[in-house]
Parts: sequence; structure tokens; C-alpha cells
Amino acid sequence: MINFGPAGFCEQFTENFKKSEQMPMWLKEHSLSAYEISFTNGITYGDEKCKLLGRLFAENNISVSVHAPYYINFANPNPEMIQKSIGYIINSLKKMKLLEATRLVFHPGALMKQSREQAQSAIISNLKLLLQKIDEENLNFNFYLCPETMGKHGQCGTVEEVAQMCSLDNRIIPTLDFGHINSFNGGTLKSEADYVAVFDTLKKYLGDRYNLVHIHFSKIEYGAKGEIRHLNFDSDPLNYGPDFAPLAKVLKKLNISANVISESNGHQTIDAAAMQQMYNNA
Ligand SMILES: [Zn+2]
Repeated sequence: MINFGPAGFCEQFTENFKKSEQMPMWLKEHSLSAYEISFTNGITYGDEKCKLLGRLFAENNISVSVHAPYYINFANPNPEMIQKSIGYIINSLKKMKLLEATRLVFHPGALMKQSREQAQSAIISNLKLLLQKIDEENLNFNFYLCPETMGKHGQCGTVEEVAQMCSLDNRIIPTLDFGHINSFNGGTLKSEADYVAVFDTLKKYLGDRYNLVHIHFSKIEYGAKGEIRHLNFDSDPLNYGPDFAPLAKVLKKLNISANVISESNGHQTIDAAAMQQMYNNA
């Protein structure tokens, strides 16, 4: 099963509409079936709004993911801050239950002067704490936690690191942000083989469940320290990439099950529709 859709409000949506309640119909009109709600700057929706949106998304057959707050950092050495990060995840999950959303994307952590290895091992132990806490909360619905591959060198989240996080529990699946992967490595995603290599890394850690993922896709400008800024498909004259066309072929060949979310810089809906088209033609 594969679904395509935008993250947040794109320029074309905001030219015509103001309210998130209008988003499900907008997506339906564009023949899209996925959407990512952004709680990146805080969990701002009340319960009633979540319930209403949940009903509207379900009626329009939209598969919903949520992006958790940016403040989350499971590599933070301060235990109080870890409790806060756990709190952000739990509160996001509670809203997701009302939204009938199934995937929670989060940034695993920043290095904060630690080595990559130290930061990664802190994240692994703190994710175990998170899972315990989730079990205690009895949340009682089906969801996936989706740690994201990151684009800046100061952040944890290479494909290998994220795969290791996912190996902790079946409820954790990767968010492959291919723009980030490409930026982190200075432009290494070009051919189908480059994309296949990403899934091979997942296979090494996750075995048969390598083909269930969440995907973020946009072209991204990068520099010496990785990601600089997101671009639209029609505004990449220096060819930072990556290109979706070879990935479309790989997703089809490997029978990958995913929600593919466009995080373009304003053209999310247009670019999501373009990716769906490329996938259908691959
Ligand atoms: Zn993100």
C-alpha cells in the first residue's frame, strides 16, 4: 500500500483556504491519500478539533501522520529533558488517537557535544524508557513511531542509526527522508542502486519488515555541514536533488509499503501529485 500527500499547508491551499477542516476535501480533489499534520512548534490542536478532523480525514480515505515537536531530543544527557521528550511523544499519541492518525514522526536527537556513538547509545536507552512509558499509558490503538533520518551533521539519524532504533520494537519503523540522506552525505543519491542500498541497510537490521516505512521527500540545498533548505521540484537549478524518478522505480520493484510525504518549500501538494504520477508510470 502506498499513499502520497503533502505536509502542512502549501501555498496553493493557503491562497484559497484558512482552516485545517478544509484540508481533507482539498486532498481528495487532488486525488491524494496521505497527509502529515505538523505539531513541530507545539501540540496546538484541542481534542474536539482532533475528533472532527479525524472524522473528515477518515471519510475522505486520507492516511494521516503527525510530525512531533522539534524540541524532542533523546540524546540529551539531562534526565529531566528526556522526561519532557517522552511527554511530547505521549501527548502527540493521545491526539493521534482522536485524529485516527497512525504514524508519529520525530527527530531522534542532536549530538550536543557528544560523539555520535555516545548520542546514539543514549537514544537507544531512552527509546526503551519511552516504550515502557507507552505500555503503562495503555494507549490502545495501532500506531507506529517513526524516527527520521536527519540532514545535518550535528544530528543523529543516519540510515544505519535509524535502522538500529527501529530494531528495538515492531512498533518503530523508519522515516526515510531522502532529501536529508542526500544532504547529509553531500549528494550521494542518484541512481536506482543508490536507493536500493538504503533499503539494504534496513534489511540488515529489520529483516522482512524492511519494506514498511514512512517517507519524506523533497529536494534540499546542502553545504559542508549538510542540509541548508528545502526546495520545490521546479527550483533546483544547481541540481542538489535528489530526484524522485529512480526512487519511484525502486519503491515499485521492492513493493515498499509507505506514506510518501512531500516537504517541498511551498509546493507540497503539487509535488506530491507529481510523485504519485511518477510512481504510477514507473
Ligand atoms: Zn522532520
